[in-house]
Amino acid sequence: MDLRRWTSTAIDAYQEWADGFGPFEPHPSLVVSEKRFTEAFGAFADRLHDNYPFFHPRYAGQMLKPPHPAAIAGYLAALQINPNNHALDGGPATARMEKEVVAQLATMFGFGEHLGHLTTSGTIANLEALFVARESHPGLGVAYSADSHYTHARMCHLLGVEGHSVPTTGDGRMDLGALEELLARGRIGTVVLTAGTTGLGAVDPVHEALALRERYGVRLHVDAAYGGFFTLLADVPPEDGGVDPEPWRAIAHCDSVVVDPHKHGLQPYGCGAVLYRDPAVGRHFAHDSPYTYFTSDELHLGEISLECSRAGAAAAALWLTFRLLPPTPDGLGAVLRPGRRAALRWASLLTRSEVLVPYQPPQLDIVTYLPRLAEPALSAIGRVSSDIMARGMSDKEDPVFLATYAVTGTALRERGHTVTIDAARGSILRSVLMKPESEAYLDRLHARIEDLAAVSIDGGYPS
Ligand SMILES: *Cc1c(COP(=O)(O)O)cnc(C)c1O
Repeated sequence: MDLRRWTSTAIDAYQEWADGFGPFEPHPSLVVSEKRFTEAFGAFADRLHDNYPFFHPRYAGQMLKPPHPAAIAGYLAALQINPNNHALDGGPATARMEKEVVAQLATMFGFGEHLGHLTTSGTIANLEALFVARESHPGLGVAYSADSHYTHARMCHLLGVEGHSVPTTGDGRMDLGALEELLARGRIGTVVLTAGTTGLGAVDPVHEALALRERYGVRLHVDAAYGGFFTLLADVPPEDGGVDPEPWRAIAHCDSVVVDPHKHGLQPYGCGAVLYRDPAVGRHFAHDSPYTYFTSDELHLGEISLECSRAGAAAAALWLTFRLLPPTPDGLGAVLRPGRRAALRWASLLTRSEVLVPYQPPQLDIVTYLPRLAEPALSAIGRVSSDIMARGMSDKEDPVFLATYAVTGTALRERGHTVTIDAARGSILRSVLMKPESEAYLDRLHARIEDLAAVSIDGGYPS
C-alpha cells in the first residue's frame, strides 16, 4: 500500500467535499509563509528523529508499533473535518462509523445485544467500566490481580472504592483460590480479570471465574486492553499460533470488556473501547447538558460516556481499517498469528540456548527471558540483563531494542529458576513481538541477543 498515494487521496477527498460549499477567504491571522513553514518543519522533523524504530523488527521492546497505512489515511481524511464523536451532530458520519466498529468488536467477543463506545484509551475505558461497577454494586470493592494494569488501583482510589490485589500463580495468572477466599468475606462487588497482562501477556482463567460469579454474585469485568484481539486466535490450531481458547470464549459471558485498538488493532493512539453486555447500564450515565445537541432520537455517544470530546477521526481510522482487515480470524487474526508463532518458537530457542533462558512460557506474543548464569544471584541477573539491553540499543552497526521487566526472587523460584535472593527486586528482559514481521526476523534477533548475552556474561559481571 502506497501511503503517499493514499494520504494525497485523503486530502483530495476532503477538498472535493469542501469545495462544494463555495469559496471563502482564509483569515490573514492564520496565514504563514512557505518559507517560515519550511524552516519550522525542518526543525520539527529533526526533533522527531529522537525516537526508537518501533516499525522495525529489530525493535523488540515495549508494545509499540506504527498504525496501518489504512488507519493513517482514514484518520487524515476525517481529521481535516475534525468531527467530535461526543454527539451525533458533532460528526454524524464518524458517529455512525463508531457504532459500526463497536458492533464488530461486540461480535468478536460474542456479545449479542450490547452497549459500548470508543474511548481515548484503555485507562479511560477501564475507568468507565469500574464506574459502572461501582454504580451497580454500591459500597462494595473491586478485586484485580497483582499483575493487572497499575491503573486499576489508581482508578479505584479515584472512584472511592476499595481496591484489592489478588496474588498470581507461578504463571502470572490470577490465583482463583485466593480470589475465592477474598470473595467469601463479602466485600467484593466486581472482579477485574486481565486477558493478557501488560507485563507477561498472562491470561487470567476467565472461564473458571464464571462459576465464582454465580456463587458470590459479583460482576466480572475483563481488561483485554492488550490481549482482546487474541480472541480471534481461539479457534486456530496451536501450531499455527492459536491460543488456549477457553478464557477467550468465556468473555462472552462476562459483564464488560475493554480492548485497545491502539495496541493490537493497528490504530494510532487515542483509540480504546469499552463494551457492556447489558445495555441497561446506560442509565448510570443519564445527563442533561445544555451544551449538547439533540436533533435526533438516536442515542448520543456522549450520553453513555465519561468523556465529552473525542476524535471522530479515531472512529474513521478504525472503520476503514476494519473494512480491509476486519476483526475476524482471517482478517486481523492473520496479523496477530505470526507474532504468536514467533513467541512460541523463540521460547523453544531460548530453552536450548547456553546463554539465555525463558522466564516462563509465553501465553500470547510477549517473551520474557534472562541470562543463564552459573551462580545466579538476583542482582547479577539484573545487572547482566540491563547490560545486554544497553549494549544492544547503543550499537551503531546492528542495534536491537529490548525492554526490561522487574521481578522478585520469589517469582523466579515459582517458575523453577534457581536464584540467590540478594535484593528485593531484579530485572529480566522482555520483548513484545506484536509486529508480524518479527516472525521472519526471529533467528537474527535471537542470534544477536545471544551474542550480546555471551559478552555481558563474560564481561566481568559476577555470575
Ligand atoms: C495498556 C493497558 C491498559 C491501559 O491502556 P492505555 O490505553 O495505555 O491507557 C490497561 N490494561 C491493560 C491490560 C493494558 O495492557
